[in-house]
Amino acid sequence: MAFNFGNVGEETNPAKPCRTCTDFKTWAKQTRQTLSDKKSNEFQGGAAPSKSRNPECPLDKDELGSRTWGFLHTMAAYYPENPSPQQKQDMKSFFDIFSRFYPCEVCAKDFQKEIQTQPPNVDSQKSLSKWLCDMHNIVNVKLGKKSFDCNRVNERWKDGWID
Ligand code: FAD
Repeated sequence: MAFNFGNVGEETNPAKPCRTCTDFKTWAKQTRQTLSDKKSNEFQGGAAPSKSRNPECPLDKDELGSRTWGFLHTMAAYYPENPSPQQKQDMKSFFDIFSRFYPCEVCAKDFQKEIQTQPPNVDSQKSLSKWLCDMHNIVNVKLGKKSFDCNRVNERWKDGWID
């Protein structure tokens, strides 16, 4: 399984370059602007912007991933501690449908496999958040990223850091 696609919706042709929604003239102008912002930030002792990208561009795979994880972890953080049978069923259905429509094909296929092996634990807020944290860590590890400490998932997504 490859994990290096650059853009959402381009899985069938991974060699295709990034869709930028930027023509050359605009790109050149943005590059000049970035260099000038960088100089100005260095002068003021501030951090240079890490990337200059038109915020109105379509999301790439990583932006989509990061924002989606934010939504999913926050949803899990506010799931009831004592869910009703209907809420449990709805949450299972949500992840089933989500895994079929997530608009990064390779990510969706992989997530579908993972949730078949480890279905969502919908018994409580804590169990759902822990399950989702584990799912996110499976992706982190596949991408060569550090695992997150799932004992702190509520600090990250609900209550704020203790220290
Ligand atoms: P992200 O991994 O997006 O994390 C965002 C924030 O969540 C982090 O800053 C951190 O504070 C917090 N966090 C990190 N780990 C955890 C955790 N375990 N529990 C709770 N909080 C945590 N990309 C691929 O290239 N291939 C894939 O197959 C793939 N599959 C994906 C499947 C799903 C369902 C989703 C939502 C995304 C997937 N992605 C995949 C995208 C990938 O996971 C990242 O979102 C992307 O690489 C951007 O990473 P990031 O460094 O911004 O942080």
